[in-house]
Amino acid sequence: MSTKIFQIYPPLSIPETLAAGPGPGNTDARVLQAFAGAGVADHMQGDVLRGMIECKHMLRKIWGTRNTYTIAVAGTGWSALDTMFSAVMPGDKVVAFANGTFSGINALTLRIKAATSQEHAANPLNPQAASVTVIDVPHGEPVTAEMVDAALAEHKPKWAFMAHWETGSGRVNDLRGFSDACERHDVMGLIDAVSSLGVDDFAIDDYPGIAGWASCPQKGLCCLPLTYAPVSFTDAYIDSLKASGAYTYVHNPIFEARHWGIVDGHDVDKGTYHRTHSGYAVAAFHEALRLTLQEGLTRRTVSYKTHQAVLRDAVTAMGCEVTSDMPSLVVLNLPPELTGREMELVQNCRAQGFGIWPTLSAPVQVRIGILNQLNREAVSRIVRLFAEAIRELGGHVDFEDIEALLESRYGTSIAA
Ligand SMILES: *Cc1c(COP(=O)(O)O)cnc(C)c1O
Repeated sequence: MSTKIFQIYPPLSIPETLAAGPGPGNTDARVLQAFAGAGVADHMQGDVLRGMIECKHMLRKIWGTRNTYTIAVAGTGWSALDTMFSAVMPGDKVVAFANGTFSGINALTLRIKAATSQEHAANPLNPQAASVTVIDVPHGEPVTAEMVDAALAEHKPKWAFMAHWETGSGRVNDLRGFSDACERHDVMGLIDAVSSLGVDDFAIDDYPGIAGWASCPQKGLCCLPLTYAPVSFTDAYIDSLKASGAYTYVHNPIFEARHWGIVDGHDVDKGTYHRTHSGYAVAAFHEALRLTLQEGLTRRTVSYKTHQAVLRDAVTAMGCEVTSDMPSLVVLNLPPELTGREMELVQNCRAQGFGIWPTLSAPVQVRIGILNQLNREAVSRIVRLFAEAIRELGGHVDFEDIEALLESRYGTSIAA
């Protein structure tokens, strides 16, 4: 054993940065206040349980669904996704569409869930489940209705998976086409809605082909203080889960739902123990949902599109090429003279507290997000910081042009 004396570290101090990436977004001040303002209370205390029930009802409203099994899972997006995939059993036939980093990881998760024990043993970290077909769509391209229809017609799976918005490449995939194809081929659709919930104005019940949905707290819902990742399931999904069981206690939606006051498919007055919940987290999540309902998704969606268009046009004026169409995110190639220096630019920005991101899988591109940055000042600040970063790298930016563009877009019509 080492005889060196262990020195206690000084208190950890984390600076305030500008979260201008694909997520997490800037946590709303109201959410932080709710987190810090909650008292110490255990997970069976009356107001904590009431808060969870209210969250459940708000979530159904925001997500436009009468699915009883609409709850939230402690953790992040992957916690919700793992819960959604819990009903996928070894040997189940699955078709998964992958068009970027996140749908790629989802496809891996599905191969892990559907692999037989022999397939696990053959390749434990990357099982090649014979029952899972992954349709690889090139980075930067969307998943289309035609692709989904053709693959489901050919493979006739039990489950199909797609990301609603693929945050890796910033592409919006065809949710309508996916749901319709699932209905037509009698397949249960599973959707990663991690980056669209709270940003896009859509209702689960308009997509009857989709049996399971999973999202996260820290993107469109502006609630980073590690809280709750929303999920929603149709009765058909729950019936399948009831029939097959699942290889998990903590992420089984039927067990999990009990703490949110759902027993045997019905709402009950009071939750029962599933796991320890944090009163702080419940209070923060509750406030984030209230905020979303107060602002209204219709208004928020318009606002995201408006501000994204300004950011997009500004970076285009700097010589960048935008390849994405997500309303909360711009994915771009740098001007030709700076090609190959994307990581350098991103690292320079991040070192100064301007938290933009590269893509996490090839090709290397730059991602700039506007989560909870829906006003003139915030977007102008992002545009100026990015312009400075390009100039620092030796690129050419006409600052007067950029200011004129901001003024013309914000000057009169869309003040805030
Ligand atoms: C961010 C993201 C994830 C992962 O979510 P975590 O909160 O990091 O667990 C999964 N899918 C998509 C589409 C995402 O944008």
